[in-house]
Amino acid sequence: MGMNSNRREFLQHSAVAAAAAVGLGGTSVARARADQGAAKKAVLRLSSQEGRVPGANLKEQLDFMEKHGFEGLEVGGRGLKNRVKELKDALKGRPIKISAICAGFEGWLIADKKEVRDQAMATMKEILTAAGELGSVGMIIVPAFNHQAAVPHKEAREMLTGFVRWDRRAEKPPTGVLVELADFAAKAGTSVILEPLNRDECYFMRTVADGASICKDIESPGLTVMGDFWHMTWEETSDMGAFLTGGRYLSHVHMASRGTRNTPGEDGEADNYVDGFKGLKMIGYQGYVSLECGCKGDKSVVVPAAVKLLREQWGQAKV
Ligand code: MG
Repeated sequence: MGMNSNRREFLQHSAVAAAAAVGLGGTSVARARADQGAAKKAVLRLSSQEGRVPGANLKEQLDFMEKHGFEGLEVGGRGLKNRVKELKDALKGRPIKISAICAGFEGWLIADKKEVRDQAMATMKEILTAAGELGSVGMIIVPAFNHQAAVPHKEAREMLTGFVRWDRRAEKPPTGVLVELADFAAKAGTSVILEPLNRDECYFMRTVADGASICKDIESPGLTVMGDFWHMTWEETSDMGAFLTGGRYLSHVHMASRGTRNTPGEDGEADNYVDGFKGLKMIGYQGYVSLECGCKGDKSVVVPAAVKLLREQWGQAKV
């Protein structure tokens, strides 16, 4: 790449960054990103998906979470627009915020049939609007699962981003479905969070670097990536390296035990997150670390034990 194209690329980056700062300075996503970009000290903000902690109803679960220092609640996206008031009321006066919204849409993005893509876009936009109202960091999506009709990788990437080569961007801005969705999310004050999965579940986007590379193609405050320790266990060569590749695009983390996908600590020695936590500290991570796991034991015993384990390992992660 010659000097001219370097210069051109630099100007594009600056313009995108400036536009993002002006348009979205007030949103939680933009703030977290700016903090992360400014190498702020990382913090361990614990979150849990609804139903992973003890409690017969949401109020009891939130009471438990508050008692154990959780700061985030992750909820499913299905029917979210009808739950906005309920969730806002439940969180009123508590030190817990909505961390992320987990999927809940219909259809999928990397689909050869337009009606399937359209269904995904319409239902995702509905969830993103509610996610923005709730102040969520974003809505987690998987663009294609193994059980859905596969599209070849090159076509899949073009479907999402509208282009494949970085240096084509100067002539033509990206136009894929994810560009439209990221723009919609940014305007709603939230983001689309790409979740890489392991090969048992998906053929497309299996590492944090894969997802971050798509974020780099589109470069919008409305598009971020996450890492899930469960999937990372099988696909990543280094937890620390994975989070470093996520960098300022990394907005969320899922947490589970590393042998059976239960509560952290339930798989004993296998449940080591220190290397990954080093990576989060190195990027000044400002997002949440959220429980997405089953449970072998008694939740009222193993969840507090997991909180203790994660805080200890966060302390052991020296950078
Ligand atoms: Mg996950």
